[in-house]
Amino acid sequence: MSADEGLRAPTSADSVELEGRVAIVTGGASGMGLATVHALARRGATVAVFDLAAPGRTELASMLDVGVDRVRSVAVDVTDSGQVDRAVASVLAEQARLDILVNAAGIAPPTPFEDITEDEWSRVLAVNVNGTFLCCQRALPAMRDGGWGRIVNFSSTAGKTISTAGGAHYTTAKHGVLGLTRHLAKAYGPVGVTVNAVCPGLIDTPMARGLLPEGSLERATASYPVPRVGLPWEVAELVAFLASDRAAYITGAAVDINGGDLIV
Ligand code: NAD
Repeated sequence: MSADEGLRAPTSADSVELEGRVAIVTGGASGMGLATVHALARRGATVAVFDLAAPGRTELASMLDVGVDRVRSVAVDVTDSGQVDRAVASVLAEQARLDILVNAAGIAPPTPFEDITEDEWSRVLAVNVNGTFLCCQRALPAMRDGGWGRIVNFSSTAGKTISTAGGAHYTTAKHGVLGLTRHLAKAYGPVGVTVNAVCPGLIDTPMARGLLPEGSLERATASYPVPRVGLPWEVAELVAFLASDRAAYITGAAVDINGGDLIV
């Protein structure tokens, strides 16, 4: 699979349904976050990447084949409240609005349960859960004031059952993301903000490739009803739909996208 095949939906028609919308995508420098940046920008949104090692804006635009005006790039550790405050404030100062937040930043160490240190446990919860909390809390006032908002949080099949490759801390964290998603959906639905989660199965990203030995992704997915590894753009298309007006009546959902691995 070439980088392009994994990143971009096979469609030539660019829609502008998100024209004028301003989005933040955490973890937007890699994998499904990066594919989501592409999907949102292609639909007309201006998208700010929040990531540890944020790529340069020009590099990002040319990698995704979108206009340089469509993307921003900010180095942020989502576990650091001061950094999240400053990064969200910089987007609001420049764009004067914030419509869409996608929380894709995540880590999933495969450590066996008895070997997980307290530090590692805390870090996994901090990135996956606290980071999602901090970004939601800082973004929501602008969405509420604008009367429209879309939040899409990355949980996982691990948030509904247990992780294939990540440790118990990862499974715990992704269950936590679903709890936060459901709570916020109830609280913010009345002011025009929907909050949903996506629950991907095994998707072909640097995270999944880094967790599993060579060939394991293909072997693990060969028996799925859709017998192959999922692609980042396939998840990004779902996120972009949830971020659109077309998904206005969906909130508090935890949407599976896993080739039928988990059918509930
Ligand atoms: P990835 O490793 O390709 O991308 C994750 C990104 O998050 C990276 O760019 C990384 O730098 C960033 N990140 C990590 N810690 C951060 C921090 N503290 N602050 C800011 N950015 C940080 O991973 P991916 O597979 O695209 O995963 C995206 C999301 O999907 C994650 O939340 C992951 O847990 C979840 N997920 C992945 C799979 C899979 O099979 N790949 C399955 C289910 C869920």
